[in-house]
Formats: sequence, C-alpha cells, structure tokens
Amino acid sequence: MDCHKIIEDTYAHILSKENKGAVATYIPELGKVDPAHFGVCLTTNDGTQYTAGDAYSPFSIQSIAKVLSLSLALSLEDTMIWQRLDVEPSGSAFNSLVQLESENGIPRNPLINAGAIVVCDILCSHLKDPKKELIGYIRDVANNDTIQYSETIAQSEKSNGYLNVALVNFMKSFGNIKNDVEQVIDLYFYLSSIEMTCCQLSKTFGFLANGGKQLITNKQILTRSQSQRVNAIMQTCGFYDEAGEFAYKVGLPGKSGVGGGIVAVLPNSYSISVWSPKLNEKGNSYRGMKFLQLFTDTTRETIF
Ligand code: GLN
Repeated sequence: MDCHKIIEDTYAHILSKENKGAVATYIPELGKVDPAHFGVCLTTNDGTQYTAGDAYSPFSIQSIAKVLSLSLALSLEDTMIWQRLDVEPSGSAFNSLVQLESENGIPRNPLINAGAIVVCDILCSHLKDPKKELIGYIRDVANNDTIQYSETIAQSEKSNGYLNVALVNFMKSFGNIKNDVEQVIDLYFYLSSIEMTCCQLSKTFGFLANGGKQLITNKQILTRSQSQRVNAIMQTCGFYDEAGEFAYKVGLPGKSGVGGGIVAVLPNSYSISVWSPKLNEKGNSYRGMKFLQLFTDTTRETIF
C-alpha cells in the first residue's frame, strides 16, 4: 500500500468538497477554533508516519480521551469494571440521560458521557491524585511528556457543563458513583480537555493496533485480550448513534470527539487520526468521517 500517495490523494479530494457541519459551541472555547483546520496522520505499526495538512496542530481530543481512561481502569480492575457499566451500544446521543433511569443508573458503555463519568469514579477510587496520575498514564501511553490538559478548555466546559453535572448526580442517586461528585466530574472535564496533534494521537493509539503493546518499545499497555475488547467497544460504541454507519462506511474500530478529531485503528497494521472541527448532526467530524470512508474504500482494508 502506497500510504503516502493514498493519504495525499484522499486529503486533496476531501479538501475539494464542501465542508458541512458546525463547530461545537456548547463548550465556548471549542467555538473559537478555526473550522478550516484539516489534518491527518497515519502511523504504521513500525512507527512510520504519513501526514497531510494540519497534522502537527494540537486540538482538544474530548471524547477520544475516554478510550485512554477506560484503558487505565481496565489495567486497575480488569473485568470488575463491568459491574458498574455495560458494553452495549446506546443508539442515543453521547450525553443522553434517557436510558439511565430505566437501567438503574448503569451506563450502556464507557464511551458515552455517563459511562466515562463512571470510569472517572473508578479512577478516583484507586488513585491518590487522580488528575496527576491520569495525565501521567496518558503521557506514558503516548511516550510523550508534553501531553497536557487544557485548563482553558476544562474551565470553559465546566462553566456550561450542566448536563454532565446532572448525569453524575443522577448516577450518584442510584449508588453508581462512589466518590464526591465534584471530584469525579472535575476529572471528567480535565480528561476531555486533553490536547494532542494528529501525529501524537495516532501514535498514542498504536497500542490498540499492536496487541496492546506500545509501538517501537513493545511496552505492554493492555493485554492482547483487553486491547481486542477495547477495539470491540470502539467499533460498536465509538460514534454513539452513528456507530453503525461508521462500521458500515469505514469498517474500523474508532472514536470521535466534539473537538473534531477521529482516531481509528486497523489491528496489526496502523492507527490513523483525522482532525476537522466542523461536526455533523451526530456530533462527529463531517470531514473526518468522509476522509476515513474514502480512505478505506481506496485501501480496501477493513476489519471485515
Ligand atoms: N466533554 C464533551 C462532553 O462531555 C465530550 C463529548 C464528545 O466529545 N462526544 O460533552
């Protein structure tokens, strides 16, 4: 596969088409991002990177970070975490409250907001300094000590985070949040604020294309079994009520974020990250979805 040419040609084609959608404004800081940004980086399992456009500009990875907090929780509790949340697609929006009431405060999966908040609660139960240890873990997975929270974005989301505050309190009322709700939701807002470039993001997710082992160093981040199951959850839940369409059109396990990022992996081959801030009506990057669809159509390589 001539990665360089396929990335370049796919990028040029998508760039030539109308860029639909809108940037997220419910987090005011995200509303300030230039909607014209468009970057791509593919990292093959030998660590080689192929880029196009804004591949080196940092952006808020938002819900993409939920995959990394899930990985840490699995490292700490393994399958015990599934007593607190499920592994089922929600079929609803990422911030929906609807199913929580009928399902006794047990979130459908760890990639919707309610599930990620329970994962943050699990981390608060295990870690002495959750915020410090979580970013430390993510820097370790990324093999990059410069990865940071964005104080500005975390505070911006916190200033308008009424729905997530409702989610954490609603689950607390069912007894599915064990720690102080303020501490748990604060960790969640900081987790969401983490910034990475496309190159950093695709390299960081390389362990999920590599049997749980960090690229190059082969450091075991997750067991092979755990990494396979995280990929399965990304495949079925990574795009919320558009997960089926992503599986149908792209055919890779992946995760989106309202900052306009998407990361996807082809196990035993590569991880790829795309960033374009304008979101479709489901809250996933419009150009990111279109790029990945054309990319896997061209490479004819999917998990299917
Ligand atoms: N922090 C965002 C929220 O809670 C994450 C949503 C997303 O990226 N899908 O709404």
